[in-house]
Amino acid sequence: MLEPTMRSMNAAPTTSEPIPGMTIVTHPLVQHKLTLLRQKDSSIQLFRTLVREIAILLCYEVTRDLPTELIDVETPIASCKSPHIAGKKLVFAPILRAGLTMAEGMLDLVPSARVAHIGLYRDPATLQAIEYYFKTPEDIADRLVIVVDPMLATGCTAIAALDRLKEAGAQEIRFACLLAARPGAEALRAAHPDVPIWAAGMDDVLNDHGYIVPGLGDAGDRKYGTR
Ligand code: URA
Repeated sequence: MLEPTMRSMNAAPTTSEPIPGMTIVTHPLVQHKLTLLRQKDSSIQLFRTLVREIAILLCYEVTRDLPTELIDVETPIASCKSPHIAGKKLVFAPILRAGLTMAEGMLDLVPSARVAHIGLYRDPATLQAIEYYFKTPEDIADRLVIVVDPMLATGCTAIAALDRLKEAGAQEIRFACLLAARPGAEALRAAHPDVPIWAAGMDDVLNDHGYIVPGLGDAGDRKYGTR
Protein backbone atom coordinates (compact mmCIF):
# COMPACT_ATOMS: atom_id res chain seq x y z
CA MET A 1 0.00 0.00 0.00
CA LEU A 2 1.45 3.40 -0.97
CA GLU A 3 1.74 6.15 1.64
CA PRO A 4 -0.76 8.96 0.96
CA THR A 5 2.00 11.39 -0.09
CA MET A 6 3.49 8.89 -2.52
CA ARG A 7 0.08 8.18 -3.94
CA SER A 8 -0.63 11.84 -4.63
CA MET A 9 2.88 12.32 -6.10
CA ASN A 10 2.27 9.42 -8.42
CA ALA A 11 -1.08 10.88 -9.44
CA ALA A 12 0.29 14.40 -9.98
CA PRO A 13 -0.30 15.97 -13.38
CA THR A 14 2.76 17.26 -15.24
CA THR A 15 2.12 20.82 -14.09
CA SER A 16 1.82 21.93 -10.49
CA GLU A 17 0.32 25.42 -10.11
CA PRO A 18 -3.50 25.12 -9.88
CA ILE A 19 -5.77 27.34 -11.97
CA PRO A 20 -8.78 28.76 -10.09
CA GLY A 21 -11.99 27.24 -11.41
CA MET A 22 -10.21 24.23 -12.87
CA THR A 23 -10.24 20.75 -11.35
CA ILE A 24 -7.64 18.15 -12.25
CA VAL A 25 -9.15 14.75 -11.51
CA THR A 26 -6.26 13.02 -9.75
CA HIS A 27 -8.05 9.74 -9.09
CA PRO A 28 -5.52 6.93 -9.71
CA LEU A 29 -7.78 5.22 -12.26
CA VAL A 30 -8.01 8.40 -14.30
CA GLN A 31 -4.27 9.02 -14.08
CA HIS A 32 -3.45 5.43 -15.03
CA LYS A 33 -5.74 5.56 -18.05
CA LEU A 34 -4.32 8.94 -19.10
CA THR A 35 -0.82 7.46 -19.01
CA LEU A 36 -1.94 4.62 -21.32
CA LEU A 37 -3.56 7.20 -23.58
CA ARG A 38 -0.32 9.17 -23.84
CA GLN A 39 1.66 6.13 -25.00
CA LYS A 40 2.17 6.37 -28.72
CA ASP A 41 1.94 2.60 -29.23
CA SER A 42 -1.55 2.28 -27.75
CA SER A 43 -3.81 0.82 -30.46
CA ILE A 44 -6.77 2.70 -31.93
CA GLN A 45 -9.11 0.30 -30.18
CA LEU A 46 -7.43 0.84 -26.81
CA PHE A 47 -7.32 4.60 -27.39
CA ARG A 48 -11.09 4.76 -28.02
CA THR A 49 -11.84 2.57 -25.03
CA LEU A 50 -9.68 4.73 -22.76
CA VAL A 51 -11.22 8.00 -23.99
CA ARG A 52 -14.66 6.59 -23.26
CA GLU A 53 -13.68 5.30 -19.83
CA ILE A 54 -11.98 8.53 -18.76
CA ALA A 55 -15.00 10.49 -19.99
CA ILE A 56 -17.24 8.40 -17.74
CA LEU A 57 -14.98 9.05 -14.76
CA LEU A 58 -14.82 12.78 -15.57
CA CYS A 59 -18.62 12.90 -15.90
CA TYR A 60 -18.88 11.43 -12.41
CA GLU A 61 -16.82 14.36 -11.09
CA VAL A 62 -18.43 17.08 -13.23
CA THR A 63 -21.88 16.08 -11.99
CA ARG A 64 -20.85 15.58 -8.36
CA ASP A 65 -22.81 18.60 -7.09
CA LEU A 66 -26.07 18.03 -8.98
CA PRO A 67 -28.96 18.68 -6.62
CA THR A 68 -31.08 15.75 -5.48
CA GLU A 69 -34.49 15.48 -3.88
CA LEU A 70 -36.03 12.67 -1.89
CA ILE A 71 -38.75 10.76 -3.68
CA ASP A 72 -41.06 8.02 -2.46
CA VAL A 73 -39.96 4.53 -3.48
CA GLU A 74 -41.56 1.13 -2.97
CA THR A 75 -38.88 -1.53 -2.65
CA PRO A 76 -39.93 -5.20 -2.69
CA ILE A 77 -39.68 -5.00 1.11
CA ALA A 78 -40.98 -1.58 2.21
CA SER A 79 -41.61 2.07 1.31
CA CYS A 80 -38.84 4.61 1.77
CA LYS A 81 -37.61 7.98 0.60
CA SER A 82 -34.60 7.90 -1.68
CA PRO A 83 -32.53 10.58 -3.52
CA HIS A 84 -33.31 11.37 -7.14
CA ILE A 85 -31.58 13.96 -9.35
CA ALA A 86 -33.54 17.20 -9.34
CA GLY A 87 -33.08 20.47 -11.17
CA LYS A 88 -31.66 21.04 -14.61
CA LYS A 89 -31.41 18.22 -17.12
CA LEU A 90 -28.13 17.69 -18.94
CA VAL A 91 -26.88 18.37 -22.44
CA PHE A 92 -23.57 16.91 -23.54
CA ALA A 93 -21.98 19.13 -26.18
CA PRO A 94 -19.13 17.41 -28.00
CA ILE A 95 -16.87 19.54 -30.15
CA LEU A 96 -16.60 17.53 -33.39
CA ARG A 97 -15.09 15.30 -34.13
CA ALA A 98 -12.79 14.36 -31.28
CA GLY A 99 -15.40 15.08 -28.59
CA LEU A 100 -17.83 12.42 -29.87
CA THR A 101 -16.34 9.46 -28.02
CA MET A 102 -16.28 11.43 -24.76
CA ALA A 103 -19.98 12.27 -25.21
CA GLU A 104 -20.77 8.61 -25.91
CA GLY A 105 -19.05 7.60 -22.67
CA MET A 106 -20.98 10.20 -20.71
CA LEU A 107 -24.24 9.03 -22.32
CA ASP A 108 -23.56 5.57 -20.91
CA LEU A 109 -23.78 7.20 -17.49
CA VAL A 110 -26.66 9.63 -18.21
CA PRO A 111 -28.64 8.03 -21.06
CA SER A 112 -31.46 10.57 -20.87
CA ALA A 113 -29.17 13.55 -21.59
CA ARG A 114 -29.59 15.50 -24.82
CA VAL A 115 -26.68 16.11 -27.19
CA ALA A 116 -25.61 19.36 -28.87
CA HIS A 117 -23.13 18.98 -31.74
CA ILE A 118 -20.57 21.72 -32.28
CA GLY A 119 -18.61 21.45 -35.53
CA LEU A 120 -15.43 23.47 -35.25
CA TYR A 121 -11.98 22.85 -36.64
CA ARG A 122 -8.70 24.64 -36.12
CA ASP A 123 -7.29 26.38 -39.16
CA PRO A 124 -3.78 24.85 -39.19
CA ALA A 125 -2.18 28.14 -40.28
CA THR A 126 -3.90 30.59 -37.93
CA LEU A 127 -5.00 28.06 -35.24
CA GLN A 128 -8.34 29.94 -35.25
CA ALA A 129 -11.63 28.03 -34.85
CA ILE A 130 -13.79 27.73 -37.98
CA GLU A 131 -17.47 26.67 -37.51
CA TYR A 132 -19.04 24.20 -39.95
CA TYR A 133 -21.94 22.73 -37.93
CA PHE A 134 -23.93 23.77 -34.88
CA LYS A 135 -27.11 22.18 -33.55
CA THR A 136 -28.46 22.25 -30.01
CA PRO A 137 -31.69 21.18 -28.27
CA GLU A 138 -34.25 24.01 -28.29
CA ASP A 139 -34.49 24.15 -24.50
CA ILE A 140 -30.75 24.60 -24.00
CA ALA A 141 -31.36 27.62 -21.74
CA ASP A 142 -33.04 25.34 -19.18
CA ARG A 143 -30.32 22.69 -19.17
CA LEU A 144 -26.84 22.26 -17.73
CA VAL A 145 -24.48 22.02 -20.71
CA ILE A 146 -21.32 19.94 -20.41
CA VAL A 147 -18.98 20.72 -23.30
CA VAL A 148 -16.54 17.94 -24.10
CA ASP A 149 -13.36 18.04 -26.16
CA PRO A 150 -10.41 15.75 -25.45
CA MET A 151 -7.74 18.42 -25.89
CA LEU A 152 -7.83 21.97 -24.53
CA ALA A 153 -4.79 23.30 -26.39
CA THR A 154 -4.73 27.01 -27.36
CA GLY A 155 -8.29 27.41 -26.07
CA CYS A 156 -9.47 29.07 -29.33
CA THR A 157 -11.86 26.27 -30.27
CA ALA A 158 -13.24 25.92 -26.76
CA ILE A 159 -13.76 29.68 -26.43
CA ALA A 160 -15.55 29.78 -29.81
CA ALA A 161 -17.75 26.83 -28.77
CA LEU A 162 -18.73 28.55 -25.53
CA ASP A 163 -19.39 31.84 -27.37
CA ARG A 164 -21.79 30.02 -29.72
CA LEU A 165 -23.53 28.10 -26.95
CA LYS A 166 -24.13 31.33 -25.03
CA GLU A 167 -25.46 32.99 -28.23
CA ALA A 168 -27.84 30.01 -28.51
CA GLY A 169 -29.07 30.70 -24.98
CA ALA A 170 -27.02 28.38 -22.76
CA GLN A 171 -26.97 29.75 -19.22
CA GLU A 172 -24.98 27.19 -17.28
CA ILE A 173 -21.97 25.53 -18.91
CA ARG A 174 -19.17 23.25 -17.70
CA PHE A 175 -16.17 22.14 -19.76
CA ALA A 176 -14.49 18.71 -19.58
CA CYS A 177 -11.36 17.58 -21.39
CA LEU A 178 -8.86 14.78 -21.14
CA LEU A 179 -5.78 16.93 -21.31
CA ALA A 180 -5.32 20.70 -21.06
CA ALA A 181 -2.42 22.97 -21.83
CA ARG A 182 -1.92 25.63 -19.20
CA PRO A 183 -2.10 28.54 -21.73
CA GLY A 184 -5.37 27.21 -23.15
CA ALA A 185 -6.92 26.61 -19.74
CA GLU A 186 -5.94 30.13 -18.64
CA ALA A 187 -7.33 31.63 -21.86
CA LEU A 188 -10.62 29.74 -21.46
CA ARG A 189 -11.03 30.79 -17.83
CA ALA A 190 -10.23 34.44 -18.78
CA ALA A 191 -12.74 34.47 -21.67
CA HIS A 192 -15.47 32.54 -19.79
CA PRO A 193 -14.87 32.89 -16.03
CA ASP A 194 -18.36 31.45 -15.35
CA VAL A 195 -17.41 28.11 -16.94
CA PRO A 196 -15.53 25.70 -14.66
CA ILE A 197 -13.13 23.20 -16.22
CA TRP A 198 -12.44 19.55 -15.40
CA ALA A 199 -9.44 17.73 -16.89
CA ALA A 200 -7.63 14.46 -16.35
CA GLY A 201 -4.28 16.23 -16.72
CA MET A 202 -2.55 19.46 -17.62
CA ASP A 203 0.77 20.03 -19.39
CA ASP A 204 2.58 23.36 -19.43
CA VAL A 205 3.73 23.62 -23.02
CA LEU A 206 2.25 24.03 -26.52
CA ASN A 207 4.45 23.62 -29.60
CA ASP A 208 4.46 25.92 -32.66
CA HIS A 209 1.64 23.88 -34.25
CA GLY A 210 -0.59 24.28 -31.20
CA TYR A 211 -0.03 20.70 -30.00
CA ILE A 212 0.24 19.96 -26.30
CA VAL A 213 3.71 18.84 -25.14
CA PRO A 214 4.18 16.08 -24.07
CA GLY A 215 0.43 15.67 -24.67
CA LEU A 216 -0.80 12.60 -26.49
CA GLY A 217 -0.70 13.66 -30.13
CA ASP A 218 -3.75 14.37 -32.29
CA ALA A 219 -6.67 12.91 -30.38
CA GLY A 220 -8.98 12.77 -33.43
CA ASP A 221 -6.40 11.05 -35.63
CA ARG A 222 -5.46 8.57 -32.92
CA LYS A 223 -9.11 7.76 -32.28
CA TYR A 224 -10.17 7.38 -35.90
CA GLY A 225 -6.91 6.14 -37.43
CA THR A 226 -6.66 9.03 -39.86
CA ARG A 227 -3.47 10.61 -41.21
N1 URA B 1 -5.58 18.79 -30.60
C1 URA B 1 -5.07 17.55 -30.43
O1 URA B 1 -5.67 16.57 -30.84
N2 URA B 1 -3.87 17.41 -29.80
C2 URA B 1 -3.19 18.47 -29.32
O2 URA B 1 -2.12 18.29 -28.75
C3 URA B 1 -3.74 19.76 -29.51
C4 URA B 1 -4.93 19.88 -30.15
